Amino acid sequence: MRVGVLGGGQLGRMLALAGYQLGVEFRFFDPHSGAPVGQIGQLVAANYDDEAALERFLTDIDVVTYEFESIPLSVVEFAAERVRVYPPIRALATAQDRLLEKRLFEALGIPTPEFASVDALEDLENAVKRMGFPVVLKTRRLGYDGKGQAVVRTASEIEPAWKALGKTGLIVEQFIPFEHELSVIGVRGLEGREVFYPVVQNVHREGILRRSTAPAPNATPEMSALAIDNCRKLMTELDYVGVLALELFAVDGRLVANEIAPRVHNSGHWTIEGSETSQFENHLRAILGLPLGTTALRGQTVMLNIIGHIPAREAVLAVEGAHLHLYGKAPTEKRKVGHVTLVGTHPEAMEWCTRELERIVTGNAG
Ligand code: AMP
Repeated sequence: MRVGVLGGGQLGRMLALAGYQLGVEFRFFDPHSGAPVGQIGQLVAANYDDEAALERFLTDIDVVTYEFESIPLSVVEFAAERVRVYPPIRALATAQDRLLEKRLFEALGIPTPEFASVDALEDLENAVKRMGFPVVLKTRRLGYDGKGQAVVRTASEIEPAWKALGKTGLIVEQFIPFEHELSVIGVRGLEGREVFYPVVQNVHREGILRRSTAPAPNATPEMSALAIDNCRKLMTELDYVGVLALELFAVDGRLVANEIAPRVHNSGHWTIEGSETSQFENHLRAILGLPLGTTALRGQTVMLNIIGHIPAREAVLAVEGAHLHLYGKAPTEKRKVGHVTLVGTHPEAMEWCTRELERIVTGNAG
């Protein structure tokens, strides 16, 4: 079995590390010759419009998947004309455009922030009149990790934000004063069988995920069931195959959908050690038509992202139970270069170890 992966970042790398155990082979396509997968797999490094390179990438591949959401749709379509591609292209097209995404939530009856499309200043002004301050203005496309968005709190901030984000191709959303951010990861196989991981609680800073805790300490059983139900609705509608992540805001006991990711997701990295079957293995099982693995929890799990610098390995590994993952990336400001996972059953020990690790990975280790 040979899987072709569009994108060569850490998600692709972790997919391959999970797949090698199952005897699966990989080939990657990425415009950057220094992509993190190059250290562990066969990488075709070429521009997306290089059809000859794409043909080389697709040779003798059984199924293609993607690990990067901003792959041009034309590239995925090119692959789909030759090889099976999962998750389905419609899921990717929807996730690439925040407006389509929000409309899909609406069509499925999944609560989402009030929103409006913005292509001119007056669209934004009218939306603000309706929604009131604050609002969040975002680019419809190519936004990630908090890039391409601005919170608008006063009338004087409207025009500068609109100009800064490019004036057109934008979406404005009601600002949700959420208590918690949650995510749920579902997996759907070729025959429609589904499994779900426990709902996770996420902490972001500057729009970047910092910490995920599984199961989510502040999600009631009702909220978890609702989150899973929403994820199931999306997977059914999209005739989905693979891993799908759904990010949600929890506010006043309600859940409000923020966005989907049709791929393995940062808030699922904890599953490598914290679950019987990782999201990476289950994604591969799904797209290869293999039985899905159990998502049973091995214990309360905390995952911390390592961002912008590489902490001393010795310091991280000195914390009992810490599992260190480094992605082979050079650290630059705000770049995710690794993560650490802690699985435990004793809450007090977990708390202490998490605090200790947090100091180390944020570079405040005294
Ligand atoms: P996104 O790229 O849409 O996932 O946004 C990144 C982060 O910005 C989210 O994880 C939230 O912390 C915050 N955010 C995005 N949209 C909203 C919103 N409508 N209301 C409040 N916070 C938001």
